[in-house]
Amino acid sequence: TGSLHYSQSAFEGLKAFHGADGVIRIFRPDMNAKRLANSCERLCLPEVDERTFKAAIRELVQIDKAWIPQKRGQALYIRPLIFGDEEHLDVRPSNRYRFIVMTCPVRAYYGDEIAPVALDVQNHYTRAAPGGVGESKTGGNYAAALLPGEKARASGFNQALWLDGVEHRYVEEVGQMNIFFRMGDTVVTPDLRGTILPGVTRDSVITLLHDRGITVEERRIDIDEVAEGIRSGHLTEAFGAGTAAVISPVGQIAVQGERLTINDNKLGPLTSQLYDAVTAIQYGEVEDTHNWNMVIGNEGTQAAAE
Ligand SMILES: *Cc1c(COP(=O)(O)O)cnc(C)c1O
Repeated sequence: TGSLHYSQSAFEGLKAFHGADGVIRIFRPDMNAKRLANSCERLCLPEVDERTFKAAIRELVQIDKAWIPQKRGQALYIRPLIFGDEEHLDVRPSNRYRFIVMTCPVRAYYGDEIAPVALDVQNHYTRAAPGGVGESKTGGNYAAALLPGEKARASGFNQALWLDGVEHRYVEEVGQMNIFFRMGDTVVTPDLRGTILPGVTRDSVITLLHDRGITVEERRIDIDEVAEGIRSGHLTEAFGAGTAAVISPVGQIAVQGERLTINDNKLGPLTSQLYDAVTAIQYGEVEDTHNWNMVIGNEGTQAAAE
């Protein structure tokens, strides 16, 4: 198929959770539907409308519900994928597409303890460039990130910390996650300017911080500001945010060869609170005040509501 050669594909990633109350919840599928629509537009893929997207997921999770692990921390991962599946070699959009949803049970990302990760600031490779496909969830971004990721691991780090593709100066993402820094009483995260993937977890974290009266700044963050902040003690916590790990604390960042340690390489209090807050909503342990969960198993009332 042409898409194997030319990467005309886009995907999504979300999870279904089995609550202790027996209810199955899918976290914010409307956000994934909107993001997939944006990815599709950029990559000349036909748009999967939100209704079809959610109906496909609901139907498959209903069929696969016995595969949803019941243990806290575990979930059923849902992977929607769309790609051109016409056989062709000429460079053009495909004339035929396939939209697939697949599921897979996943164990808890962490064992007993959430272990902070060590990041290698990537000064050579870039993940995305202005005008490119950095904000689309597409395979090419992942292929381009494999080598830098492998190099980071070979040097004793867990992930690459991506800087902007123009000046190699402003922080963008960590591996396949969005990044947050706690600086004094404020939480800072890079603003979305086309080169950053608009994470559902990122959006949820920002909302939960606002709920707690904590100021969130979405702006450019110079890697020197991060290094200075760690050295002076102004920067007290850092974490990545994404569906797979939910929240992943950052314990070390190597800037220009110097390994800087954050919060004694331990899980920080705000990072921990946010992890608990997001997962409590996903497992139905607290009230879903933002109406984020799509509940599976009461199709009658949901269909009527729509
Ligand atoms: C999917 C993804 C994220 C996280 O998005 P979530 O919706 O929170 O899972 C962050 N960065 C990249 C590059 C991604 O592909």
